[in-house]
Amino acid sequence: MDIKQSLIKIVNGHVITPDGIIRNGSVIVRDGIIIGVSDHDLEMPGAMILDAGGRYISPGFIDIHVHGGGGYDFMDNTVEAFLEIANTHARYGTTALFPTTLTGSTEDIVSTLRTYDEAYPLNESGSEFMGVHLEGPYFSMNQRGAQDPRWIRDPDPDEYEYIISQSNSIKRWSAAPELKGAIPFARFLGLKGILASLAHTDAIYEEVLEGFENGYTLATHLYSAMSGVTRRNAYRFAGAVESAFIIDDMDVEIIADGIHLPAPLLKLIFKIKGPGKIALITDAMRAAGMPPGESVIGNIQTGIKVIVEDGVSKMPDRKSFAGSVATADRLVRTMVQMADVSLTDAIRMMTMTPAVIMKIADRKGSLSSGKDADIVIFDENINVHTTMVKGKVIYQAPVK
Ligand SMILES: [Zn+2]
Repeated sequence: MDIKQSLIKIVNGHVITPDGIIRNGSVIVRDGIIIGVSDHDLEMPGAMILDAGGRYISPGFIDIHVHGGGGYDFMDNTVEAFLEIANTHARYGTTALFPTTLTGSTEDIVSTLRTYDEAYPLNESGSEFMGVHLEGPYFSMNQRGAQDPRWIRDPDPDEYEYIISQSNSIKRWSAAPELKGAIPFARFLGLKGILASLAHTDAIYEEVLEGFENGYTLATHLYSAMSGVTRRNAYRFAGAVESAFIIDDMDVEIIADGIHLPAPLLKLIFKIKGPGKIALITDAMRAAGMPPGESVIGNIQTGIKVIVEDGVSKMPDRKSFAGSVATADRLVRTMVQMADVSLTDAIRMMTMTPAVIMKIADRKGSLSSGKDADIVIFDENINVHTTMVKGKVIYQAPVK
């Protein structure tokens, strides 16, 4: 269904705003921008009416860490992959996403950046591309997780300056702050307006703190591929996880699929960091939105074979996870149903907080006048009914 009309009135829904839920409210959209949110049905002659049917009307979900879905990975390096991933996640309420790479060669990374630029103007029916998140290759070998060890290395200025010179689309770069050269790297990212994020790291508190002070202000998938308390002889050291808790201004992102982190850890993180410091991420690989079975993480030809079962992607020996198959609706559902978080807080962590972290909150992240009309309508169980990007309905659930 293709709806693109200049004036739209969404009625008969519970509107989730930063100040709480407005029961039976309405949202007015003109030319792709929200122009009003009301607690009653405003008179709006000529507007196309979109009936929310008593469901929730929410800001669109923002996924700042996602690798794939619908059978494709961004590292496949095809325009088709980019567009299909965007279409797949749109069906689950994601209106904005940051395509995320994996550790690879310089050529792989640069070619993914080129494909991003090619795909960007062609994306008419998917979640909006907001810029690229480079995950790797500057990681701790010991914390590589499902990242391919062949490509893991220390930051090299010749390499990263070259990569950055090849694209204006890089918005975020995940790296381990304790590596040789990782501090000048973060400073360089800061100069270029790119967010440094600490990831796949064996750092202890002192290293994380130095990293934080130099730009590593976000912790990538907290708890996953990250040091906790370690002992060296008799002495204990706080790891990256504890550091993210101690440093109040450190943002964290979590894979809230209910599997990577069990309910008690979701509750612990929420208790310590609160909804203003946590972004929910899918970290989804290609099997998101697909049936279980064998799959591949990373490039379809050169990536690592994995098994998708029990709602998660696993390494072939089943001893560790290899990305998630989550979609954004599932993250919200998990936080509400497993972690006992309120719906408004869960939505904030899927919308406003990631928008603030990625510095796009001036136009995304809440149902507020003047912002893009990125809107998702879902029911009590967070089943997505309608997804709208900039005033255009890009997905409607089939009528049952
Ligand atoms: Zn990832």
